[in-house]
Amino acid sequence: MSQLDKTYDPSLNHQPLTPQQEAISEHVRAILDLLGEDVSREGLVKTPRRVARAMTELTRGYHEDPIAILNSAKFQEDYRQMVIVKDINFYSLCEHHMLPFYGQVHVAYIPNGEVTGLSKIGRLVDCFAHRLQIQERMTKQIREAIQEALHPLGVMVVIEAQHMCMQMRGVEKQGSITTTSDFSGAFNQAKTREEFLSLIHS
Ligand SMILES: [Zn+2]
Repeated sequence: MSQLDKTYDPSLNHQPLTPQQEAISEHVRAILDLLGEDVSREGLVKTPRRVARAMTELTRGYHEDPIAILNSAKFQEDYRQMVIVKDINFYSLCEHHMLPFYGQVHVAYIPNGEVTGLSKIGRLVDCFAHRLQIQERMTKQIREAIQEALHPLGVMVVIEAQHMCMQMRGVEKQGSITTTSDFSGAFNQAKTREEFLSLIHS
């Protein structure tokens, strides 16, 4: 267990920095200096510390257990129809540029005797989004965690996102959406996938 696990609490913003955050803030100060900034000017004096806090907050998902999140509200239920949780907003950082990508996650699964609390799907998304990510991997990780925790008859995950590393640098037209999907089990049937896709855009 790292230092962060024991001392991290997002509500305590006046807490001293952890040793990990102190080290990060030193590096941020060096980056600002290398960019030609005056790190002693008023607006920037506390910036390295703020960035250190923000970065540890935005990567807190490394210290969360996705399977434990789903297991924390798992119920026996003899329901075998598609369960859909759509329009889950997320914010993540791409691992190539450490710039935001954000959008919506849509999840469907067909239970096989076990369901999870609907809010837990949102927490699961948060857990993976609060790590350095690529959209394709995050899509797969969400599907695999649901598969592993609930053993459903099938899972499908669709993510629609905008990537700031593409848009701010002008690589892509502003507002363009990247869509990824991953599925297993019953969703191998095109008809089942179509049912889900028609429901998420209705
Ligand atoms: Zn990127």
